[in-house]
Amino acid sequence: MTDHDVAVRLAGVRKVYHRDGRTVEALQGINLDIPRGAFFGLLGPNGAGKSTLINILAGLVIKSAGTVVIWGHDIDRRPRDARSSIGVVPQELNIDPFFTPRETLELQAGLYGVPKRLRRTDEILDAVGLTEQAGAYARTLSGGMRRRLLVAKAMVHRPPVLVLDEPTAGVDVELRRQFWRYVARLHADGTTILLTTHYLEEAERYCDRIAIIDRGSLIACEPTAALVNRLDRKVILIAVAGRIAEVPKALTGWETSITPGGRLAVVYRPSRARVEDILAAVRGAGLVITDLSTEQAALEDIFIDLTRRGPSTDTPHATVAGNV
Ligand code: ADP
Ligand code: MG
Repeated sequence: MTDHDVAVRLAGVRKVYHRDGRTVEALQGINLDIPRGAFFGLLGPNGAGKSTLINILAGLVIKSAGTVVIWGHDIDRRPRDARSSIGVVPQELNIDPFFTPRETLELQAGLYGVPKRLRRTDEILDAVGLTEQAGAYARTLSGGMRRRLLVAKAMVHRPPVLVLDEPTAGVDVELRRQFWRYVARLHADGTTILLTTHYLEEAERYCDRIAIIDRGSLIACEPTAALVNRLDRKVILIAVAGRIAEVPKALTGWETSITPGGRLAVVYRPSRARVEDILAAVRGAGLVITDLSTEQAALEDIFIDLTRRGPSTDTPHATVAGNV
């Protein structure tokens, strides 16, 4: 990727925290390019280093080593240009309780030197669904409204890169939908989005690329579909005529179970097993197949696979029972 295609570039970024005589290596040499226009997901378990990485981009945490370039601006050499190229919605909901949403946005616009005639406070308030609350004290806003106010605040200077750190934690389902509609619109309009989340289905649904970070190191960074495919694990669901009481002997060579809905769920590795052999085994057991479907491994399984600590073991597919 040339510099011009890159929205955010991290090279050899390390962060060591010192606290109470202990040192924590929160980032152990991260190399990462986030392409312009991407909807990029950063996934990792708690304590992986996601917020540290994002707070370095935001200028809130000072890195211990490495270089960071945002929209072509090195954060050490051109901190102001770098800062004006990015809007960050932090994980914590810190909002001044005695300002209204309108005042909050006007103040932020002032901080970033946005001239009055270029401000679009009402437009942004409308986009995040806070028009009715525009004049209310922020302390009267619900958690979901505060989150949306923070997104609005991050967007007042129209940065080309928007960073969202666990944005939907504690936001109810309806507001979450509204929130994603707004973020999707920003993305469609050309904003590069960097999202951290532990809602894996959210990353799978919205992100076109996903990086996985664990204990301060990147362990994967791929287009979402490639990452999903990488886990060599699929499930075939087979409905048969009549009731089945137990897994047919012919299928015990595969990881097979009976779903609560009475279907056979067979987990197989596409690189090693042939669907034809599975179906032949079912027919060979005297069963009549009435319906078939396959499911891709969920991102959650990939994540568990990639970040599993200790020796790797074959665990049963976790999502089958819940989905059927
Ligand atoms: P995540 O956002 O992925 O949950 P964080 O970046 O918050 O991870 O934390 C990464 C590691 O750094 C954790 O071990 C955490 O305890 C530690 N850490 C984070 N912030 C500080 C800090 N201000 N001082 C000391 N350690 C910190
Ligand atoms: Mg975090």
